[in-house]
Amino acid sequence: EIMSDMSGIIQCVNFAAIQHKDQRRKDPEKTPYINHPIGVAQLLIEGGVSDADVIKGALLHDTIEDTNTTQQQLIDKFGPRVAGIVAEVTDDKSLSKEERKRLQIVHAASASHEAKLVKLADKLYNLRDLDRVTPEGWTRERVYQYFQWAAKVVDACSGTNEYLEAQLHELFNKWKCIN
Ligand code: NDP
Ligand code: ZN
Repeated sequence: EIMSDMSGIIQCVNFAAIQHKDQRRKDPEKTPYINHPIGVAQLLIEGGVSDADVIKGALLHDTIEDTNTTQQQLIDKFGPRVAGIVAEVTDDKSLSKEERKRLQIVHAASASHEAKLVKLADKLYNLRDLDRVTPEGWTRERVYQYFQWAAKVVDACSGTNEYLEAQLHELFNKWKCIN
Protein backbone atom coordinates (compact mmCIF):
# COMPACT_ATOMS: atom_id res chain seq x y z
CA GLU A 1 0.00 0.00 0.00
CA ILE A 2 2.91 2.34 0.74
CA MET A 3 4.75 1.70 -2.55
CA SER A 4 1.53 2.18 -4.52
CA ASP A 5 1.09 5.63 -2.93
CA MET A 6 4.63 7.00 -3.15
CA SER A 7 3.46 10.32 -4.57
CA GLY A 8 1.04 10.78 -1.66
CA ILE A 9 3.82 10.00 0.83
CA ILE A 10 6.22 12.46 -0.83
CA GLN A 11 3.48 15.12 -0.79
CA CYS A 12 3.28 14.67 3.00
CA VAL A 13 7.06 14.89 3.50
CA ASN A 14 7.18 18.00 1.35
CA PHE A 15 4.26 19.67 3.16
CA ALA A 16 5.72 18.85 6.60
CA ALA A 17 9.18 20.11 5.54
CA ILE A 18 7.68 23.44 4.42
CA GLN A 19 5.56 23.83 7.56
CA HIS A 20 8.42 22.99 9.98
CA LYS A 21 11.13 24.80 7.98
CA ASP A 22 12.09 27.35 10.67
CA GLN A 23 11.90 24.93 13.62
CA ARG A 24 14.67 23.02 15.36
CA ARG A 25 14.74 20.15 17.87
CA LYS A 26 15.75 20.73 21.49
CA ASP A 27 19.04 18.80 21.26
CA PRO A 28 22.26 20.86 21.61
CA GLU A 29 22.99 20.39 17.87
CA LYS A 30 19.61 22.03 17.09
CA THR A 31 18.76 19.34 14.56
CA PRO A 32 16.22 20.43 11.89
CA TYR A 33 12.73 19.66 13.23
CA ILE A 34 11.69 17.73 10.10
CA ASN A 35 14.16 14.95 11.07
CA HIS A 36 11.67 14.01 13.81
CA PRO A 37 8.48 13.33 11.78
CA ILE A 38 10.56 11.54 9.11
CA GLY A 39 12.19 9.43 11.84
CA VAL A 40 8.80 8.62 13.39
CA ALA A 41 7.59 7.38 9.98
CA GLN A 42 10.80 5.33 9.64
CA LEU A 43 10.18 3.63 13.04
CA LEU A 44 6.69 2.63 11.87
CA ILE A 45 8.16 1.10 8.70
CA GLU A 46 10.66 -0.80 10.89
CA GLY A 47 7.71 -2.01 12.95
CA GLY A 48 6.13 -3.49 9.84
CA VAL A 49 3.35 -0.91 9.48
CA SER A 50 2.10 -1.00 5.89
CA ASP A 51 -0.92 1.32 6.12
CA ALA A 52 0.06 4.38 4.03
CA ASP A 53 -2.35 6.62 5.94
CA VAL A 54 -0.56 5.83 9.22
CA ILE A 55 2.80 6.69 7.63
CA LYS A 56 1.27 9.94 6.33
CA GLY A 57 -0.19 10.65 9.77
CA ALA A 58 3.30 10.19 11.26
CA LEU A 59 4.88 12.56 8.73
CA LEU A 60 2.24 15.20 9.51
CA HIS A 61 1.76 14.42 13.23
CA ASP A 62 3.17 17.70 14.64
CA THR A 63 1.89 20.09 11.93
CA ILE A 64 -1.34 21.17 13.66
CA GLU A 65 0.25 21.31 17.12
CA ASP A 66 3.44 23.16 16.18
CA THR A 67 2.75 25.11 12.95
CA ASN A 68 -0.06 27.24 11.49
CA THR A 69 -1.56 24.19 9.74
CA THR A 70 -5.31 23.69 10.20
CA GLN A 71 -7.33 20.48 10.36
CA GLN A 72 -9.29 21.61 7.27
CA GLN A 73 -6.06 22.04 5.29
CA LEU A 74 -5.07 18.44 6.07
CA ILE A 75 -8.55 17.18 5.12
CA ASP A 76 -8.38 19.02 1.78
CA LYS A 77 -4.83 17.90 0.94
CA PHE A 78 -4.61 14.40 2.41
CA GLY A 79 -8.17 13.27 3.12
CA PRO A 80 -10.24 12.84 6.30
CA ARG A 81 -8.58 9.59 7.49
CA VAL A 82 -5.05 11.06 7.56
CA ALA A 83 -6.35 14.33 9.05
CA GLY A 84 -8.22 12.32 11.69
CA ILE A 85 -5.07 10.45 12.76
CA VAL A 86 -3.19 13.76 13.12
CA ALA A 87 -6.08 15.30 15.09
CA GLU A 88 -6.01 12.36 17.51
CA VAL A 89 -2.32 12.92 18.34
CA THR A 90 -2.65 16.71 18.62
CA ASP A 91 -2.66 18.29 22.11
CA ASP A 92 -5.03 21.17 22.91
CA LYS A 93 -2.59 24.06 23.27
CA SER A 94 -5.16 26.22 25.11
CA LEU A 95 -4.60 23.95 28.14
CA SER A 96 -1.64 24.10 30.53
CA LYS A 97 1.31 21.78 29.88
CA GLU A 98 0.49 19.75 32.99
CA GLU A 99 -3.13 19.30 31.89
CA ARG A 100 -2.05 18.35 28.36
CA LYS A 101 0.32 15.71 29.72
CA ARG A 102 -2.37 14.33 32.05
CA LEU A 103 -4.90 14.15 29.20
CA GLN A 104 -2.44 12.26 26.96
CA ILE A 105 -2.41 9.46 29.53
CA VAL A 106 -6.21 9.55 29.90
CA HIS A 107 -6.98 9.68 26.17
CA ALA A 108 -4.35 7.18 24.93
CA ALA A 109 -6.29 4.05 25.87
CA SER A 110 -9.35 5.04 23.84
CA ALA A 111 -7.40 6.30 20.82
CA SER A 112 -7.73 4.44 17.51
CA HIS A 113 -5.23 1.71 16.58
CA GLU A 114 -3.78 4.05 13.93
CA ALA A 115 -3.28 6.91 16.41
CA LYS A 116 -1.75 4.53 18.99
CA LEU A 117 0.82 3.44 16.39
CA VAL A 118 1.84 7.07 15.78
CA LYS A 119 1.89 7.78 19.54
CA LEU A 120 4.19 4.80 20.21
CA ALA A 121 6.61 5.72 17.42
CA ASP A 122 6.60 9.39 18.51
CA LYS A 123 7.42 8.45 22.11
CA LEU A 124 10.15 6.03 20.98
CA TYR A 125 11.78 8.70 18.81
CA ASN A 126 11.66 11.36 21.56
CA LEU A 127 12.95 8.98 24.25
CA ARG A 128 15.82 7.85 22.03
CA ASP A 129 16.64 11.51 21.47
CA LEU A 130 16.67 12.16 25.24
CA ASP A 131 18.69 8.98 25.85
CA ARG A 132 21.25 10.11 23.27
CA VAL A 133 21.79 13.65 24.54
CA THR A 134 20.20 15.95 27.14
CA PRO A 135 18.61 19.15 25.78
CA GLU A 136 20.29 22.35 26.94
CA GLY A 137 18.92 23.51 30.29
CA TRP A 138 17.39 20.13 31.17
CA THR A 139 18.41 18.38 34.36
CA ARG A 140 18.77 14.59 34.50
CA GLU A 141 15.71 14.64 36.78
CA ARG A 142 13.63 16.36 34.12
CA VAL A 143 14.68 13.76 31.55
CA TYR A 144 13.72 11.02 34.03
CA GLN A 145 10.31 12.67 34.67
CA TYR A 146 9.71 12.69 30.93
CA PHE A 147 10.54 8.95 30.74
CA GLN A 148 8.14 8.22 33.64
CA TRP A 149 5.31 10.13 31.97
CA ALA A 150 5.98 8.53 28.57
CA ALA A 151 5.90 5.08 30.19
CA LYS A 152 2.32 5.77 31.31
CA VAL A 153 1.22 6.85 27.82
CA VAL A 154 2.94 3.81 26.28
CA ASP A 155 1.31 1.50 28.83
CA ALA A 156 -2.10 2.84 27.78
CA CYS A 157 -1.21 1.97 24.14
CA SER A 158 -0.05 -1.59 24.91
CA GLY A 159 -0.94 -4.44 22.56
CA THR A 160 -0.61 -2.23 19.48
CA ASN A 161 2.79 -3.07 17.93
CA GLU A 162 5.20 -5.70 19.23
CA TYR A 163 8.37 -4.18 17.76
CA LEU A 164 7.78 -0.59 18.95
CA GLU A 165 6.72 -1.73 22.41
CA ALA A 166 9.79 -4.00 22.75
CA GLN A 167 12.08 -1.10 21.78
CA LEU A 168 10.30 1.18 24.26
CA HIS A 169 10.50 -1.34 27.11
CA GLU A 170 14.22 -1.75 26.52
CA LEU A 171 14.64 2.00 27.10
CA PHE A 172 12.30 2.02 30.12
CA ASN A 173 14.35 -0.79 31.68
CA LYS A 174 17.57 1.13 31.04
CA TRP A 175 16.06 4.19 32.74
CA LYS A 176 14.48 2.06 35.50
CA CYS A 177 10.98 3.31 34.77
CA ILE A 178 7.94 1.73 36.38
CA ASN A 179 4.31 2.42 35.65
P1 NDP B 1 8.77 19.41 26.97
O1 NDP B 1 7.36 19.15 26.58
O2 NDP B 1 9.19 20.80 27.21
O3 NDP B 1 9.77 18.78 25.90
C1 NDP B 1 9.58 17.51 25.38
C2 NDP B 1 8.94 17.58 24.00
O4 NDP B 1 9.76 18.36 23.14
C3 NDP B 1 8.82 16.22 23.36
O5 NDP B 1 7.60 15.63 23.70
C4 NDP B 1 8.98 16.52 21.88
O6 NDP B 1 7.68 16.84 21.38
C5 NDP B 1 9.82 17.79 21.83
N1 NDP B 1 11.26 17.64 21.54
C6 NDP B 1 11.99 18.47 20.76
N2 NDP B 1 13.27 18.14 20.75
C7 NDP B 1 13.39 17.03 21.53
C8 NDP B 1 14.49 16.21 21.88
N3 NDP B 1 15.74 16.45 21.44
N4 NDP B 1 14.28 15.17 22.70
C9 NDP B 1 13.04 14.91 23.15
N5 NDP B 1 11.94 15.65 22.85
C10 NDP B 1 12.12 16.72 22.03
O7 NDP B 1 9.13 18.52 28.23
P2 NDP B 1 8.42 18.57 29.63
O8 NDP B 1 8.07 19.94 30.00
O9 NDP B 1 7.39 17.53 29.63
O10 NDP B 1 9.57 18.11 30.63
C11 NDP B 1 9.76 16.75 30.96
C12 NDP B 1 9.31 16.46 32.37
O11 NDP B 1 10.05 17.21 33.30
C13 NDP B 1 7.83 16.76 32.62
O12 NDP B 1 7.16 15.56 32.90
C14 NDP B 1 7.81 17.73 33.81
O13 NDP B 1 7.00 17.22 34.85
C15 NDP B 1 9.23 17.77 34.28
N6 NDP B 1 9.72 19.11 34.51
C16 NDP B 1 9.38 20.13 33.68
C17 NDP B 1 9.90 21.39 33.86
C18 NDP B 1 9.51 22.48 32.94
O14 NDP B 1 10.06 23.55 33.00
N7 NDP B 1 8.55 22.26 32.05
C19 NDP B 1 10.85 21.66 34.92
C20 NDP B 1 11.16 20.51 35.70
C21 NDP B 1 10.61 19.30 35.47
P3 NDP B 1 7.28 16.65 19.81
O15 NDP B 1 7.14 15.20 19.52
O16 NDP B 1 5.96 17.40 19.76
O17 NDP B 1 8.37 17.34 19.05
ZN1 ZN C 1 6.35 14.36 17.69
